Amino acid sequence: MVKRNVNFNPGPAALPLEVLKIVQEELLDYQGSGMSILESSHRAKEFESVNDQTIALVRELLGLGTDYHVLFLGGGASTQFALVPMNFIPDGGMAAYIDTGEFAAKALKECQIVAKAHVAFSSKEEKYVRVPRMDEIKYPADVAYLHLCSNNTIEGTQFKKFPDTGKVPLVADMSSDIASRQLDFKKFALIYAGAQKNLGPSGVALVIIRDDFLATARKGLPSMFSYRVHADNKSLYNTPPTFAIYIMKLVLEWIKGKGGLGGIEKINIAKKDLLYGAIDAAVDFYKGTAQKDSRSMMNVTMRLPSEELEARFIAEAKKEGLLGLKGHRSVGGIRFSIYNAVSLDDIRKTVDFMEKFRKSA
Ligand SMILES: *Cc1c(COP(=O)(O)O)cnc(C)c1O
Repeated sequence: MVKRNVNFNPGPAALPLEVLKIVQEELLDYQGSGMSILESSHRAKEFESVNDQTIALVRELLGLGTDYHVLFLGGGASTQFALVPMNFIPDGGMAAYIDTGEFAAKALKECQIVAKAHVAFSSKEEKYVRVPRMDEIKYPADVAYLHLCSNNTIEGTQFKKFPDTGKVPLVADMSSDIASRQLDFKKFALIYAGAQKNLGPSGVALVIIRDDFLATARKGLPSMFSYRVHADNKSLYNTPPTFAIYIMKLVLEWIKGKGGLGGIEKINIAKKDLLYGAIDAAVDFYKGTAQKDSRSMMNVTMRLPSEELEARFIAEAKKEGLLGLKGHRSVGGIRFSIYNAVSLDDIRKTVDFMEKFRKSA
């Protein structure tokens, strides 16, 4: 038996052990090809089949039709911060952004480098403790799109509902909660997500674009910056991050085996209920930082009475094999990133530790 710690890292993050075992088994001779998938050409039938299957799995699990292009691109989610405005804001145009956290603010900032942006809502003054109510989101009717970040990884807040934007295309950064719950993904014109939280290893970003929105994309951009070029070539315009895509396929198959997004969501609800329950049961000691109705199911953030206790909490947890609990350097505190690959059993172990720690402190 390999020793495996409970991995609460925010990203790159835990991967299912079952997936890692398949990777290990297939590593030297991929399905009788006599070579590793790492060594395969991206034009070889082995990889083309991986690419096609991964696209099909994304559509199947998210309930999307072939009117959605599924792309696998290098450069992470951060590159999409720039490519979205470059591709979709026409000359002299503007997009609207909801500012609910550090990554949402980064997306806004990148947009402002290439075009104008309207801030449709910001919780910055409230230290990003919440996402907006639907009636607080305000923007001009003629914006190129409305951008939001569905789950704020650093602050631990998450949208439960999404605005009805009518004719305005809705764009979402779902890096830290993609494939963790059932949603009406058809509501979105474009979704992007770095894979390293819920979908696989670092190195690949998933980008999903609806046909009618892609049709409005700017022409004449350098090829690598053009979503059209990537869509026309099924992400094979240049060499894509092949190994990361292969692992994403295995992760998606693993999710399917758990009953798809419905099955995964049930487990994720049980996990967050248990963890927030433990925090709320000790209010004088553990303090959740997100406003309750905005609490994230993926990143659970809390403070202890002092920074010294927080440091001890992290050190003691580490001795018990609970790793990656330090809050983001910009906010401090404790953060449990409880993505799909973190199990309910892992959370049970964690709440036992929390109870023990509180009593001994
Ligand atoms: C991690 C994260 C990013 C940054 O992703 P990279 O792949 O490192 O560029 C962007 N947005 C959100 C919501 C994230 O959680």
